[in-house]
Amino acid sequence: MKPSRLTRRQFVAATSLGSLAAAASQAGPAYGNLGQGAGKLAVLGGKPVRTKRFSGWPIWDKENDEEQVVAVLRSGVWSRSRIVAEFEAKYAELLGAKRCLATTNGTMALVTALSALGIGVGDEVLVGPYTFIASVSTIFQVGALPIMVDTDPETFLVNPDRMEAKITPNTKAILPVHIYGLPANMDKINAIAKKHNLLVVEDACQAWLAEWRGKKCGTLGNLGCFSFQNSKHLTCGEGGAVVGDDEAVMNRAFSYHDFGRPYNEPKPSAPGIVRLGTKCRMTEFQAAILLAQMKRLEEQSNRRWENARYLTEKIREIPGIVVHKLYDGVTRAAYHLYPFRYHAEKFGGVPRAKFLAALRSEGVPCSGGYSPLNRQPFFENTLNSQNFQRMYSREQLDRCREQNQCPDNDALCTQAIGLPQNVLLGTKEDMDDIARAILKIYENRAELA
Ligand SMILES: *Cc1c(COP(=O)(O)O)cnc(C)c1O
Repeated sequence: MKPSRLTRRQFVAATSLGSLAAAASQAGPAYGNLGQGAGKLAVLGGKPVRTKRFSGWPIWDKENDEEQVVAVLRSGVWSRSRIVAEFEAKYAELLGAKRCLATTNGTMALVTALSALGIGVGDEVLVGPYTFIASVSTIFQVGALPIMVDTDPETFLVNPDRMEAKITPNTKAILPVHIYGLPANMDKINAIAKKHNLLVVEDACQAWLAEWRGKKCGTLGNLGCFSFQNSKHLTCGEGGAVVGDDEAVMNRAFSYHDFGRPYNEPKPSAPGIVRLGTKCRMTEFQAAILLAQMKRLEEQSNRRWENARYLTEKIREIPGIVVHKLYDGVTRAAYHLYPFRYHAEKFGGVPRAKFLAALRSEGVPCSGGYSPLNRQPFFENTLNSQNFQRMYSREQLDRCREQNQCPDNDALCTQAIGLPQNVLLGTKEDMDDIARAILKIYENRAELA
């Protein structure tokens, strides 16, 4: 039996990938690499589907962007001032939020948000494990306990149907993470929060301009947090922001990020610092770069969104590739990574690592996504630390440990594959290359096994 032929035909029928498939079977010039006899995998010495590079990151416009940064340099005002305030006003407007507070980075945006809402010792915060470390470590940082809620493997997002079972009288907040810029199920999460009187802090650190029913991620709960780190879609190297509509809460956030100095608050009876704070103010340089970057954000976001949906239709029917699902309320996803699941048994048992190496050899950058955060040593070590031993009873710490089982997430972490956001900044033809590379690996799975 010739599995490759059969597959190609199935693939054509299922996806009506007309031009690609026709060319593939005729070895037409446009798709010469995938013609018959040219199918040898690049990782095994064949010709790669693609040698052209994808877009680099970050992107800047030398002509126009430099001017704003140099102007800050020459002004001598480098600490937080008017440019940061200008960025805050523009970012709030872009998201449809009343207020925005710029911070040094996304991690400090989360700490500031949790602190401004009064989340701390004695509180439990519901969070999912399929995320970057800072979503969970910042909960510990303010003295609260992260309670793990398993992941919905179809969407890569926290499973809201697993939340209510984890709620206790100590539960204070939900911290949904819009991982990869895919919006979490905010209808269900907000309904649970309302029913149980919980706060909602969105980790939108990968979800710039992502939308849920036409409203921007980061504006769907009490506060939303963003990162502008070097790899992020809106970047200044390091940076972050908290957005929110509640003036009193945003005043507290400002105060917290500025040593605890009062901000737009009733005059204290004694002058001076009104609360315990820290310092995580954004510089004028960061804001100048962000203002320049922001001009391109909408167009780039649309391009990623369109290309991602196009790619999904192209690879949906390849056996062993399970495309991610978006919840019904999603009106735009940001795609910090483009994720799908890989089922090795459909690829003749080829392990994920080998598939990734083969895909990279075909010219498509990719990675295996997150490993189980809840199983990393920091979790147990934090519960065992002097601070947490002093702050919590043995029973409370044990409960946090017992909740820390996420079998669906464990499985997801063995199957996930992600393509970096910059590949989605390309053309439809670039997406065709990606689909072709994946199909080529499928067809040659026997040689790879
Ligand atoms: C990047 C990121 C953060 C932290 O942001 P930094 O700016 O790197 O501190 C937090 N959560 C998620 C989901 C992130 O991707």
